[in-house]
Amino acid sequence: MKFEDLNLLKNIQQALADEGYEAPTPIQQQAIPIILEGTDLVGCAQTGTGKTAAFAIPILNDLHPIVGSAKKRKYIRTLIITPTRELALQIGESFETYGRYTNITQLTIFGGVNQTPQTDQLKKGVDVLIATPGRLLDLHKQGFINLDHLHHLVLDEADQMLDMGFIHDVKKIIKLTPDNRQTLLFSATMPLAIRELADTFLTNPKYVSVTPVSSTAERVKQQLYFVDKSDKRKLLYHLIRNENLSNVLVFTRTKHGADNVVKALKKNGVNSGAIHGDKSQSARVKMLDAFKNKEIGVLVATDIAARGIDIENLPYVINFDLPNIPETYVHRIGRTGRAGNEGLAISFCSKDELPYLKDIEKLIRLKIKVIEGHPYPFPETTCEPQQEKKPDLRNNNKSAQRNGKSKSRKSEGSKKNKKRWY
Ligand code: AMP
Repeated sequence: MKFEDLNLLKNIQQALADEGYEAPTPIQQQAIPIILEGTDLVGCAQTGTGKTAAFAIPILNDLHPIVGSAKKRKYIRTLIITPTRELALQIGESFETYGRYTNITQLTIFGGVNQTPQTDQLKKGVDVLIATPGRLLDLHKQGFINLDHLHHLVLDEADQMLDMGFIHDVKKIIKLTPDNRQTLLFSATMPLAIRELADTFLTNPKYVSVTPVSSTAERVKQQLYFVDKSDKRKLLYHLIRNENLSNVLVFTRTKHGADNVVKALKKNGVNSGAIHGDKSQSARVKMLDAFKNKEIGVLVATDIAARGIDIENLPYVINFDLPNIPETYVHRIGRTGRAGNEGLAISFCSKDELPYLKDIEKLIRLKIKVIEGHPYPFPETTCEPQQEKKPDLRNNNKSAQRNGKSKSRKSEGSKKNKKRWY
């Protein structure tokens, strides 16, 4: 399928051609016709599948004839709710890019920054508003936002909004919009609460789904390093130096962890920076730009800060800490191997993270390739995780006989443990 087959306006097709997009991605092929016919939609797709364009393109196509000349009075016609500032900014950029040959105006609003520039823009009028839930409700309460003329409501990364505790805010926002709106809901996973949200607030939606979250991108090579917690920083530095890695996105579980990794890397002369919730919005944007422009080679991020950030051609993702939510692993490694490029996802696993590894491998239905022979292997004697430890049969012959287990069987098990730990 080509974009020409989708019945899009010429000025939108031109913008896509400018971007070098040759063909719609699977989510775009499925979602664009449904959105253009005005039907509600539930899209199960993760970042990296082209889902932003899947809703931005048909929405711009719809709005262009309505918005008309630049002088016409502006109303908010499209509202996009998204969980993080980074994602909001990225969606804003997409609307700007694909709508460059239209008069459609758009504004991105989020908390943590002065509201005046945002309210000044709102007073002038915008067609498309991209917002995080808290700031939207705040400015609505102050009377700066009127949603009476809304055509499209998009709930983006709905599962993440749920995880971040925004579900009540989202419901409040939906109730501020007209009943005859078109509602589009996108989510990487479909937990029950999201299906209930869709059942309650969408009208006869059509469902589309691409790359279920349990299947990791085929182009991403995955590797696992068993390493002692205290050696993780050394291993990271070793890989960056010896394997000559640059353009690396490193994930840590905590903000403090992210700062510590950056400190250690900088001490060893590796140009790096962190983005996380304690950094100001401008510091985060600056750091992301520095990473994109290759001024820094390593960006260390927490999940919330990194969610949805789009860095083109990212070759390496390193899970410095394994996430405790297995789906997060899939989201993380989805940062690499995009748009036809190959990617490498390296994960460090310390003893306390073994249960997380089990959950991840269960979800992706794959044993991640273990890299052995690196300089910081986990001490062999402590390889067995606590909960997997069997009774010591050598000093308990009776129980050994009762269980019908022999020494040789035990040593066979140990060999296995050496390789996989469990
Ligand atoms: P998203 O899933 O929205 O985060 O998009 C992932 C990346 O795919 C972004 O960098 C988009 O610019 C890019 N992209 C979206 N649609 C296409 C397309 N049809 N052809 C090539 N790249 C695309």
